[in-house]
Amino acid sequence: MSESLVRIEGVSKSFGTFQAVRDVSLEVAKGEIFSLLGGSGCGKTTLLRMLAGFETPTAGRIFIDGADMAAVPPWDRPVHMMFQSYALFPHMSVERNVGYGLKHEAMSSAARQARVREMLDLVQLTEFATRKPHQISGGQRQRVALARALARQPKLLLLDEPLAALDKKLREHTQFELMSIQERTGVTFIVVTHDQEEAMTLSDRIAVMDKGQVKQVGRPDAVYEFPNSRFVANFLGSINTWEAKVMSIADVVTVDVPQLGQRLQARPTSGVQVGQALSLALRPEKITISRTPLQGANVIAGEVKDLAYFGKDSLYRIALPSGALISVHAVNAHRGGDAERLADWYDKVWLDFAPASAILLTE
Ligand code: ATP
Repeated sequence: MSESLVRIEGVSKSFGTFQAVRDVSLEVAKGEIFSLLGGSGCGKTTLLRMLAGFETPTAGRIFIDGADMAAVPPWDRPVHMMFQSYALFPHMSVERNVGYGLKHEAMSSAARQARVREMLDLVQLTEFATRKPHQISGGQRQRVALARALARQPKLLLLDEPLAALDKKLREHTQFELMSIQERTGVTFIVVTHDQEEAMTLSDRIAVMDKGQVKQVGRPDAVYEFPNSRFVANFLGSINTWEAKVMSIADVVTVDVPQLGQRLQARPTSGVQVGQALSLALRPEKITISRTPLQGANVIAGEVKDLAYFGKDSLYRIALPSGALISVHAVNAHRGGDAERLADWYDKVWLDFAPASAILLTE
């Protein structure tokens, strides 16, 4: 990792007897977009508020750019927090809203005006400078809030659910805008979100949180493809999970899966031992589906119970003789009639997957 900007060391926060954040240690590099991802109440906003200085840790230390923040009040931290509501002043024009944060900065009015112009240009709102917040769209209001936050040139920008107020289409577009603005300014972003797709798209790295703890930290593809626990595997995307027992370990690990009534093979994983009980997890898109019989160690035969056609892809639920259901996600790569279709309702089908696609989870 390149030079770190934020170092969180063993930070906990209790409200009375309730522990909202438990012994969190994290490092965020300069120039990174880092997301705190987790369900409602997992402590991500509390962690963000401690970085901003609005809450004091019960234990542990926070360093920003090498300085211990314990005795530093919010207004003296090189940090700006952008709230979910954007908190724009309704009676002020766009440019006055952006300039508001500079009111207490020791700078000439010409320099202040130049900074405001530069920020409006950065978020492409120059032509809306004289409008009031109610005269622009939700996406534009979000960019005003961003321009105001960046005007003071913070080292660290904290964003609390930055896209939650936008509808789905606008959110996708705005994600890319946020990334491009972050890249151009080089400011480090820490984003709080409960939306896993948003975290995946925006972030260089993600911390997945549960019950006040950080469960896993890594690049989006690492936490998705190599989850370290059942919680992370289930929280990110969808996944098939079955209880299993390790039967043998050689080039592949063979596990018995009673729910499926058969044995399956996975790639060897460190720490796994013969006789161990664990979970075998498999993402629906890693499974191939065929209407003609397949041979192989990981072939599973079943029948199509449900089928959801989304256009570019389809989701199948395959019922096994044991009663278990397996989700399979397949891209509709070919155009054509019934013969081209991967599978239809009530078809007998054969599923297969590579041992490397199976995830063995011991936690
Ligand atoms: P959400 O996505 O719903 O905002 P979150 O992960 O941001 O959730 P936090 O706001 O950090 O969650 O809250 C974590 C837990 O701490 C919650 O159970 C919440 O009720 C509790 N909590 C937060 N602030 C306080 C407070 N000032 N007093 C008491 N409990 C609090």
